[in-house]
Amino acid sequence: MTANAPKAEIRLEGIGVSPGIAWGTAEILGKALEEPEQTSILRSEVDAEKARLSLALVATRDQIVDLQRQIASDESEDHASIFDAHLLLLEDSAVLNEVLRICETELVAIECAYYSVVKRYIDSLRKISDPYLRERAVDIEDVAGRVLKNLEGTEPSVGSETHEADTTVILAHDLTPSDTASLDRSKVKGFATEVGSATSHTAIMARSLSIPAVVALHQIPFESLSAGNVLIDGYNGVVIIDPSPDTLVEYEALVEREKGILSDLESFKDKPTLTSDGNKITLSANIEFIDELGAVAEKNAEGVGLYRTEFFYLSEETLRNEANQAENYRTVAEATSPHGVIIRTLDIGGDKLYPELRSNPEPNPFLGWRGIRLSLDRADEFRIQLRGILRASAHGKVRVMFPFICSLEEIQAAKEQMEISKQELRDAGVAFDEEIEIGAMIEIPSAVLVADHIAKEVDFFSIGTNDLIQYTTAVDRINDRVADLYQPMHPAVISMIRETVEAAHRNNIWCGVCGEAASDLTMTPVWVGLGVDELSVGSAQLLKTRKAISLLSTEECTALMETLRTAGTEDTVKGLCREFAETAYPELLY
Ligand code: PEP
Ligand code: MG
Repeated sequence: MTANAPKAEIRLEGIGVSPGIAWGTAEILGKALEEPEQTSILRSEVDAEKARLSLALVATRDQIVDLQRQIASDESEDHASIFDAHLLLLEDSAVLNEVLRICETELVAIECAYYSVVKRYIDSLRKISDPYLRERAVDIEDVAGRVLKNLEGTEPSVGSETHEADTTVILAHDLTPSDTASLDRSKVKGFATEVGSATSHTAIMARSLSIPAVVALHQIPFESLSAGNVLIDGYNGVVIIDPSPDTLVEYEALVEREKGILSDLESFKDKPTLTSDGNKITLSANIEFIDELGAVAEKNAEGVGLYRTEFFYLSEETLRNEANQAENYRTVAEATSPHGVIIRTLDIGGDKLYPELRSNPEPNPFLGWRGIRLSLDRADEFRIQLRGILRASAHGKVRVMFPFICSLEEIQAAKEQMEISKQELRDAGVAFDEEIEIGAMIEIPSAVLVADHIAKEVDFFSIGTNDLIQYTTAVDRINDRVADLYQPMHPAVISMIRETVEAAHRNNIWCGVCGEAASDLTMTPVWVGLGVDELSVGSAQLLKTRKAISLLSTEECTALMETLRTAGTEDTVKGLCREFAETAYPELLY
């Protein structure tokens, strides 16, 4: 790497959604949707305009199908299936009828009518607070951009022909899923966008294609990019424009270290997850979409320890359908055989809003109608999901887990719905696993305090540290202003976790951890020291976690947990854990 610009570097901070370092000449991609020039037409031209739209729709359909075929043969069927949704959007009759009406009544060129209709849809979707639905605006923008370019008579272009430098990093306001899928990976080494979230299809693809990516930068100073050198740090969510020679040296060292770590980690793909003294910990993966199953298998995860079903569930109304759900869950069960999958029932609420809550918001959504509360209040809908899960259990190892449990009564009520669902399937003669295991997520302090009672009702616990931290310390997990108070190693959080694991073991059930803290390598000694049975982590963290565990001795970690009993501040806990981890695997921490 060489720095050819004497300018002061500019550092931007966002969210790293795909790990890795990329460095290259910046390529700026415009917005997918550009407003066409306002053009009036004569009444006699309306039919010709309608015909132009039909041709553009056919051309767009052909391009999407081609792209879909190319992705299916290059990569995975799952990525290709994203374009099924694009094809549906293309044919949406509500949109098309409105476009024709505007063209006919306002006598404007068909592209102007098309633009005004889709722009209105996109703007209203962007205002929705639900991150998943907000992301759907990107899909509509993608399809509409193609239609408009075809109306102009130009091919939509993202990919090899636009990237002349050897190594290119893409900077954009946003990238659509099809932009991401069609990037020329021999040249494009990373990307960064002003908007986006970790739940977008774009972020998912970046992770599974191993392209370092940072999103949510809010504002990229596109005007300062004349020198064109940009570094993307997908580990820390940082983008550096015109990095200084010192920064480059620092990152060169990081890249070299990472190369060494990754090649060393390869050997951990086929190893069992064992501590240095031979204690077994089950290491499974968290997924939100079935697209992620390839990476899970590649790293040899022991199944899926947390399948968050709400993104799949929220994606389309029609998915509130038992057969569709059963098929989706069956796909995961079969792909994770023989280990299986833990399917978490719907955890809508908080920052993932149930449709009804969008028009009638609650004052404190994270303390409101969320998770199991909502499912129990919508028992008919809850049982559709339970029957879907049960049906899938006939085809592989499936466990079910209830989120946001705060009392013994709630787990009992959830189990009652499970029993009714089983009976409904028996009556209908549908096969399922009669012995299906049931778990409770422990993520609310009240559940920790009655954990002995809850443990007697279930087969396992899974600790949701993301919420347990939030509710133990009264710190909103999505509020930037109090982010420094969100402390995974607060002694009170450690006590909550300790209590939960001990209650599980006292009652002869196993206990896992599926929150983000499960993959925090400075906390691995805590999990080993407490005798946690399972860790479920993002697939990118699987091999590092497996290696970290292999370098820890149970006896030493148990002693560390004894020392931590007297720690009164997070700084003390963090300091001791960090020191411990640094002694065991300095190469994995930076
Ligand atoms: C958690 O709370 O730690 C968890 C795994 O669930 P979610 O992040 O989906 O709330
Ligand atoms: Mg949670």
